[in-house]
Amino acid sequence: MFFNTSAAPKTKDGIAKFLSGHPRYQTNSGVHPLTSYSHCVKLHRLGLNRSESEKAASIMQSDDYWRELRGCLRGFQDDMQGRYQISPMGRNSGHLVLFEAEVYDPGYKSTCRQCGHLSHQLVSPQSSHCGECGGLRSNLKKPLSWSRVIGSGIDHGVTYRDMLDWSMVDLQDRLDLVRAFDSACDITRSAFIRLLNEFMLIEQVVMVPQTVKRLERIC
Ligand SMILES: [Zn+2]
Repeated sequence: MFFNTSAAPKTKDGIAKFLSGHPRYQTNSGVHPLTSYSHCVKLHRLGLNRSESEKAASIMQSDDYWRELRGCLRGFQDDMQGRYQISPMGRNSGHLVLFEAEVYDPGYKSTCRQCGHLSHQLVSPQSSHCGECGGLRSNLKKPLSWSRVIGSGIDHGVTYRDMLDWSMVDLQDRLDLVRAFDSACDITRSAFIRLLNEFMLIEQVVMVPQTVKRLERIC
């Protein structure tokens, strides 16, 4: 594979070297910057051949190419039971970054059948219409499960020497996580290359119905 390049290290020293040498990306811009495990996925770093690169530059002008790839990132999150997620970061989403995450119930109880607006109130005779568009609401069949980032500095500032002090179990757990991240980046890269072969960019003029308010002379 492209990002998952070598066989998994087996020794404490090998795992500590692998983890401390892994590419990282800065995840915030505050006074105390944090970093987390990452991979650069800029076009020139994906190992594409010439015709793939040319096609990629065209595909990336589309508004929805990321939608096709998000399924790969979602698959990783599901495999991790929502405890970790991968998010694109940087200019043109040029880096894939590993975050700690959690699944939570945002507390919504009903949704508008017309516009999809979510409400914290159950449908009742007193409250059955959408506050946004006035359409009828329905109660959700089960609570929503959304995901949010709870940690953006996985092993930030941890050195090779620090890692040698970790237990073998902790090192192995972290190795499994980071290699799963590497594999997910590989799967996403392969999906992108498949996209290049299976799609082409179509330019479409979309007519958007608009309500415009303008002054009309009345006298
Ligand atoms: Zn509505």
